[in-house]
Amino acid sequence: MRSTDPDGWDSLEPFLHELYRERLMIDRRELQWSAIAAHVADSGEHQKYGFHNPVDWLRVRFQMGEGAARDRITVGRHMRRLRQTVEAVESEEVGFGHLVEMTGVADALHRAHGGDSPFDEAKLLKAARTETVGRFHFTCENYRHACNAGAFARQAERTYEERELTIRRRRDGMFTIWGRLDPITGSRLRVALANHARRRGAGDKRSFPQRLHDAVAEHLSERTENQLNVTVALETLLALKGSPAAEIAGAPLLSAATVRRLACDSTVRRIVIDPGSVVVDVGRNRRVVTPAARAAVIAREGGQCGCPGCDRPGRDVHHLKPWAEGGPTDVSNQVLLCYWHHRLVHEGGWRLVRMEGGRLQLLRPPPDFYYGAA
Ligand SMILES: [Zn+2]
Ligand SMILES: [Zn+2]
Repeated sequence: MRSTDPDGWDSLEPFLHELYRERLMIDRRELQWSAIAAHVADSGEHQKYGFHNPVDWLRVRFQMGEGAARDRITVGRHMRRLRQTVEAVESEEVGFGHLVEMTGVADALHRAHGGDSPFDEAKLLKAARTETVGRFHFTCENYRHACNAGAFARQAERTYEERELTIRRRRDGMFTIWGRLDPITGSRLRVALANHARRRGAGDKRSFPQRLHDAVAEHLSERTENQLNVTVALETLLALKGSPAAEIAGAPLLSAATVRRLACDSTVRRIVIDPGSVVVDVGRNRRVVTPAARAAVIAREGGQCGCPGCDRPGRDVHHLKPWAEGGPTDVSNQVLLCYWHHRLVHEGGWRLVRMEGGRLQLLRPPPDFYYGAA
C-alpha cells in the first residue's frame, strides 16, 4: 500500500490500527478454536474418520502444519489450568503465542508430576507481560529445566534419537546430503563453515548454497578448532537442583549433562554466570585441556578412543573425575574418547573408571539413574 504524505508515517496510522485490531480478534478466535479442537481431539473419534491420531486428523482436515495443530490441541487441553494467562490474552496483555509457550511447560510438567506439578503460572505470566514470544520461549525452557532437569534431559535424549544424515551418490557423480543434526553438531558445523562461506569480494558471484558447498570442501582439507560459546550458570555446572539450562548461540537450550560434557573438553568457550547473571569466568583457564595436554593424551592412546573394545578415533578429552568437582587437570585424570562414548558417559549415565593396573572399565548406569545428574 503506497502512502501519499512525504514521510509516509501519518497515512500508515489507520493501517497499523487496523492490524492491531485484527490481531486481537485473531488471538481471541484462536482461544475458541483451541478449546473446540481439544474437545474434538479428545473424543477419540479420529479412527472413525480414517486417521491415525488426532493431530493428523486436524492437520489434514484444516490444512495446517503439524506443529500448529498440536499446539492448539495442547492449549485447549490446558486452558482451565491456565485461567490467568487466558484472561491476559483476552485483555490484550499477552499474545496467543505466549500462551502456546506457557502451555508447553505446563504440559511437560503435568506429564512428569501429575497433580503435584510445580508449575507456577503467575511467575511465568509476569515474564510474558514484558518479553517477546521469542525471548519468552527461552524463559519457559529455563523454567522447565529448573523444575525438572531430569525430564528436560530425557526429552533432549528423545530428540537426539531423531538424528540422521544420509549421503547418496547420484548417477551424475554428484552427492546428495540430507540430515537432521543434534544441536551441538549443527552449531559446530555452522560455526565451522561460516568463515569459509563468506563472499570473497564484489567479484564473487557464487550463490550462498555454492559458497556453503565450497566451505565444506575447504574445511575438510584443513583442521581447525571450532569455537562455540556456551553460557552456563555455575549451579548448572555443579549439577545443583533448580538450576537453569545452558544456552548455546543459535541453538536450543542444552541439558546440564550435555553442558558438562562440553565443559569437560576444551572445544567450547564457556561463559559461566552467577545467579545475578554476572559473568564469573570466560573462556579457557588452567582447568581445561591445553594443546600440549591434548597432544600428550592423543599420543598415549594412539589417537584411539580409550574405551575398552572401541576402535573409533578419539576426539574429546574426558576427565575421569570432573574438574568442576575438583578433579586434577593433568593427563593422569584424562582419557581420549570418541564422540559416542563421551556422550554415553555424560548423557547416558555410564561411568568410566580406572581399575588397578591402569585398565579402564565402563560401568552400566545404576538402576535408579537420574537423567541430568550425570
Ligand atoms: Zn567428559
Ligand atoms: Zn569409543
